Amino acid sequence: MVAARRTSGPGTDALAAAIASRREELVALTQDLIRIPTVNPPGADYLQACEYLQDRMTRSGFEVELIRATGAPGDSDAFPRWNVIGRREGKRPGPCVHFNSHIDVVETGSGWSVDPFSGSERDGRIYGRGSCDMKGGLAASIIAVEVFLEIHPDYPGAIEISGTADEESGGYGGVAHLAEKGLLGAPRVDHMIIPEPLNKDRICLGHRGVWWAEIETFGRIAHGSMPFLGDCAVRHMAAVLRAFEDELYPALARRTTPMPIVPEGARQSTMNINSIHGGLMEGHDGFPAACVPDSCRMVIDRRFLIEEELQAVKDEVSDVLDDLTRSRQGFSYGISDIFEVNPTLTDKGAPVVRSVASAIRQVLGREPEFVISPGTYDQKHIDRIGRLKDCIAYGPGILDLAHQPDEYVGIDDMIASATVMAIALHDLLYGGKAI
Ligand SMILES: [Zn+2]
Repeated sequence: MVAARRTSGPGTDALAAAIASRREELVALTQDLIRIPTVNPPGADYLQACEYLQDRMTRSGFEVELIRATGAPGDSDAFPRWNVIGRREGKRPGPCVHFNSHIDVVETGSGWSVDPFSGSERDGRIYGRGSCDMKGGLAASIIAVEVFLEIHPDYPGAIEISGTADEESGGYGGVAHLAEKGLLGAPRVDHMIIPEPLNKDRICLGHRGVWWAEIETFGRIAHGSMPFLGDCAVRHMAAVLRAFEDELYPALARRTTPMPIVPEGARQSTMNINSIHGGLMEGHDGFPAACVPDSCRMVIDRRFLIEEELQAVKDEVSDVLDDLTRSRQGFSYGISDIFEVNPTLTDKGAPVVRSVASAIRQVLGREPEFVISPGTYDQKHIDRIGRLKDCIAYGPGILDLAHQPDEYVGIDDMIASATVMAIALHDLLYGGKAI
């Protein structure tokens, strides 16, 4: 029989009390981060955000490095892809626990009732672009670590915090770059928490897979007054859409999974039609060109389940197109891959999952919910490039608010998840011994 892991004790209360007493500081830190408008694209103000974090970590005794992902997609002198990574060694050897947050935010869009970069506080919430996704989580992890260092200065192992670029555009100038340099993954890091906004009582174990592809149908140009002399590529694309509606979409809807993806609508295979472009552009006076389109392009975004194989996902679409090639006169197509990511899933029994689950029980007094994200996040690079399996997303903020106008993060939620992170950090570094 395996002895039950014990982590609760007076030290747990000390961590919780110290974090609660830092409420104002947590609010101020979150606001400071929101006020640096790291909008991506284009990837603005990364250096300013990294220097801010460097200052903060240096004051807590971290060795801090700023790393530019020179040459990564999107990196330019106008918009350099800066990242920051800090490491603080403990008093004796032990595991390394890493908190990784992306510092970029998506564009604001319209519909805001507050200034998206003011970080205004109202009714126990902090508003602003990135408050929920994920500067609130970053701030919570920093406070968690600072309080932990105060109470357990003689800890074993090492603690790392990173702020990385470009998660919203694939992570190539951020986590992927640092993972390739051996900084974000095994053997340097043993346990990783990514404080994405998954709600304070949920542990996100991974995400579905992604396949983006462009399909092109071909035709033959002719005068628009005599379309019978040409062959309309847009009509061929309409035939593709009809076949998708009749065959593919019903098949995807039937393919469900027991994996706990949230929201529940994503517990099946899905496909978005991202865009369709066909025909010549209208002229400068707004008049269309009187031509039969000879090309039509469509971008699809297929999200697939753990149970599906990427190749089968691709074949399913090609089969529809091949059927049309056989059945529809004049139909021909091309297809090219744009982007693909396999699903990622961390085992429920993994150390970081058990530690965070136990901390959620202690802090919130309830069982954690295990979830899987419908979309990908930087965990894919940690898994594939960093070869680190012991990684989850856990952080404050309501997932549905991400990328929305009037995005906010609840201050009490940040305090609760900072406490969970601090207790989990203790558990991972001390191997589950009582505080
Ligand atoms: Zn995010």
